[in-house]
Amino acid sequence: MEKAKVYFAEARSKIWNYEYSLPGKLEELLEKVDLSKYISPKDIVAVKTHFGSQGAFRIVRPVFIRKIVDAVKAIKGKPFVTDTTRIESLDYLEVAAYNGLTHLTCGAPVLIADGIKGRDSTSVKVEGHKHISEISVANGIYHADAMIVVSHFKGHLQAGFGGAIKNIGMGGVSPKTHDGKNNRGRLHSVDDKLPAWDKAKCTLCKRCEAICPTESITIKSKNVEFNDDACWRCGRCARICKEKALDMPITSERLNTHIIEASKAVMSTFKPKKVVFINFMIEMQPECDCMPTADVPVVNDQGIALSDDPVAVDQACIDIVSKAPPLPDSLASDLGVTKPGDTFGAVNKRETKLSLEIGEKMGLGTRKYELVTVKKKSKSALTIDNLRFNVGYLGKTL
Ligand code: SF4
Ligand code: SF4
Repeated sequence: MEKAKVYFAEARSKIWNYEYSLPGKLEELLEKVDLSKYISPKDIVAVKTHFGSQGAFRIVRPVFIRKIVDAVKAIKGKPFVTDTTRIESLDYLEVAAYNGLTHLTCGAPVLIADGIKGRDSTSVKVEGHKHISEISVANGIYHADAMIVVSHFKGHLQAGFGGAIKNIGMGGVSPKTHDGKNNRGRLHSVDDKLPAWDKAKCTLCKRCEAICPTESITIKSKNVEFNDDACWRCGRCARICKEKALDMPITSERLNTHIIEASKAVMSTFKPKKVVFINFMIEMQPECDCMPTADVPVVNDQGIALSDDPVAVDQACIDIVSKAPPLPDSLASDLGVTKPGDTFGAVNKRETKLSLEIGEKMGLGTRKYELVTVKKKSKSALTIDNLRFNVGYLGKTL
């Protein structure tokens, strides 16, 4: 497989001028990749991001989403900003608004991709699967003509890190099939098993009960009980249990294989060269944006990477982050991780290269890439900027 191109803009802005700002550099990245190669006029374009949670506010900021939406509109595409159901859909839209993602701020409709009950989805077969033979893809994504996958690059307790691959594999599928069967949760456990509870370790603290998005876990008579039908197998209860009394029955290898299989299903709903991936290495907290809170970042902001290959863009981000020193007063330093390296892997006790290796082996993309660095916004990129700020705020006379 040929090397993929990954365009990169570093986060630091050493000159006080809009052209050197990260929003300015994002415009240049969008210009460099030439979105018109991927998006035709009148294409309906899903701008897939993560809306975060009430307390996990470190998502990709609306200022960046707006730039992407503007770029799609500039080539006559029809964008909408979307995510799949994580909690009740209507509540999740409120979360999006609290975190700043609205039609007004994004410049495009903000929609839940799988409907008000997380069931608006279409079953898709996985070519060359090992474990997951088919999975239901959210219809908002299934029916889109093109997609820009906007990912907050960060850690993840189960997968080690979250980037482009996880955003499509977990984030592109709905929690339920159209007839109400468990769907996304099948990725988190082997054979759709419920979390395993170890009574001896449990302190009955009820943290698992409080975090469950479907109220399917209850502490009764000193026992943890699950509602099998309601449980999404999302794994949040296991992730929040400090005593390790809950465990999702799955290995890292199996989980990552499931995610790659789901990613392939999502990608198969698009014609070739209709999907672009943009990873934001900003406010890189140790855990997923679906958790109830966001800890401080474990490494400093690194910038933005863009590619049409999900494996290459994630590999490039892992490589860039591996050169960044872990930050003091963060989970990294709490755990004694002080030297540059696989910081996300170290804080989450996972091998981050696993998903990249499996992704390459299963044909999702390539780990080989050529990094094209963008230093500043050039004049030509002005065409995709929104009108009000075309003048460039800093360093110019208004
Ligand atoms: S979070 Fe863990 S320790 Fe607390 S009640 Fe649930 S299983 Fe028990
Ligand atoms: S896996 Fe745990 S948190 Fe998730 S839905 Fe099931 S019981 Fe609730």
